[in-house]
Amino acid sequence: MNQLWKAAGAAAWGAAALGGLQPFLGPEAAEQLHTLCPGAQTVLVGAFPYYAGQAPGNLSLYCRGEDYHLVLGRRLEQVCAGLRARHPSHTFVAGADNSPVPELAAAELAGVGCRGRHGLRIVPPYGSYVFLGTILTDLVLPSTGPSAETLCPPHCRACQAACPTGALTEQGCEVTRCLSDLTQRKGPLPPEAAEQVRRSPTVWGCDLCQKACPHNQAAALTPLPEFREDLLCSLTLAELEPLSNKAFRRQYARRAFSWRGIGPLRRNLALKEETAPAEEEDRPSS
Ligand code: SF4
Ligand code: SF4
Repeated sequence: MNQLWKAAGAAAWGAAALGGLQPFLGPEAAEQLHTLCPGAQTVLVGAFPYYAGQAPGNLSLYCRGEDYHLVLGRRLEQVCAGLRARHPSHTFVAGADNSPVPELAAAELAGVGCRGRHGLRIVPPYGSYVFLGTILTDLVLPSTGPSAETLCPPHCRACQAACPTGALTEQGCEVTRCLSDLTQRKGPLPPEAAEQVRRSPTVWGCDLCQKACPHNQAAALTPLPEFREDLLCSLTLAELEPLSNKAFRRQYARRAFSWRGIGPLRRNLALKEETAPAEEEDRPSS
């Protein structure tokens, strides 16, 4: 198993019994899990590093390379193929941000990395710059977790202090206040949120709590070429202005920031340039 995950580029992996995730599953998610993988017993979790340095730019570090959904989809399928060859009578279903499996809880139970106060998993030497992917299976596998303890020094609150919106508290991350969520919302933003986006160094996502974390100060660079090559660090309003929503989606089809269409990015860029936000999402195709 180690070899399979390593060959697929995972920095760490683990397994957790699905039963342990029940407290984190609503009835709908539980039903979806068993539709995807009847008789599901185990969740495998892999952590894939994406840090490629911090070149200047206004896009969050996670979305500068190829869309992680595509990358993890391919790499998890590689693990699934190896597992199917070994266990042909069992089912293996990969998921990356598109599965009803609660990834952070699964990583905790499987012992993949440690929980940081910023709510993310810390996987040395890559810090919290990792994407989590899961594989659901009806094969019973021994659990590899849960994680021993947090890696956060007792008095460290650097992530909370760096958060400009107060989204991070001792209770964790309040998603609706997080710039990662705000920058991706469609439509006009309430005045306070708009001001926060205007002040943010990024127009898509936010890295401030991660950049402040001591575990990320010397994070190792990802060995995965999809996250190291062909990086796009910035967008400008001038680049997006002539594009229709369709043309934008086509041009940036392999980038994680394209899934919401052109509207949120155009609005955020306009806010930063202190021009009137562009509300419309669709223009004639170019
Ligand atoms: S991503 Fe940004 S806004 Fe969200 S919790 Fe971290 S610092 Fe706060
Ligand atoms: S900044 Fe400090 S408290 Fe926050 S996740 Fe990193 S080590 Fe933990």
